[in-house]
Amino acid sequence: MTKTIVFATGNTHKLQEIQEIAKDTDIEFILPAEGFNPIEDGKTFEENSLIKAKEAARVSGQISLADDSGLCVDILNGEPGIYSARYAETPQARIDKLLNVLNGKNNRNAKFVCAMSLVDADGNLLFQTRGECFGKIAEKQSGGNGFGYDPVFLTKDTDYKITMAEMSEKEKNEISHRGRALRKVLEFLNDFNSPSH
Ligand code: IMP
Repeated sequence: MTKTIVFATGNTHKLQEIQEIAKDTDIEFILPAEGFNPIEDGKTFEENSLIKAKEAARVSGQISLADDSGLCVDILNGEPGIYSARYAETPQARIDKLLNVLNGKNNRNAKFVCAMSLVDADGNLLFQTRGECFGKIAEKQSGGNGFGYDPVFLTKDTDYKITMAEMSEKEKNEISHRGRALRKVLEFLNDFNSPSH
């Protein structure tokens, strides 16, 4: 029987990615009901993911999963971090700002982080986890796939040869922060739903 879980986001790219990662499971992810308006005022990815998951459960009355994710750059002390979506006005302006700030810098190490919180229909936390993906910020952007900072993120998993925006969706999901976090959530759900539980 297919189980439906609300995925607490307004970002259709994220929804598409997690639907693809979970496509061989019996879980169907749907968007929250109308009125979903989380106030993301947490201090960590974990806190913000819990805020979003609780808000989705509040409006939808169903088990809900949320991700809070972002890019942490070593030389910027982990910035933009939880403020990644608000670093500048548009996705392109955010990339331009990052490339400017890092212009001439040798240390370009960075990581993508994704915290996920799963709550029951009453908003009680069932499971929380985190996935990370290490890499470097490229000197210039390339690639047209994915979203956000993908065109400037060279992954360690490819020996920094290509950006995340040059990977297929499948390749990205295998190594991404979101893929790593979601697979742990799916394992939890598998155990949680097993008859012995
Ligand atoms: P959130 O919706 O508050 O979690 O914001 C996440 C922001 O971090 C996005 O708007 C992107 O700017 C960035 N981000 C998170 N995950 C990714 C990814 O997989 N690729 C590129 N950028 C990402």
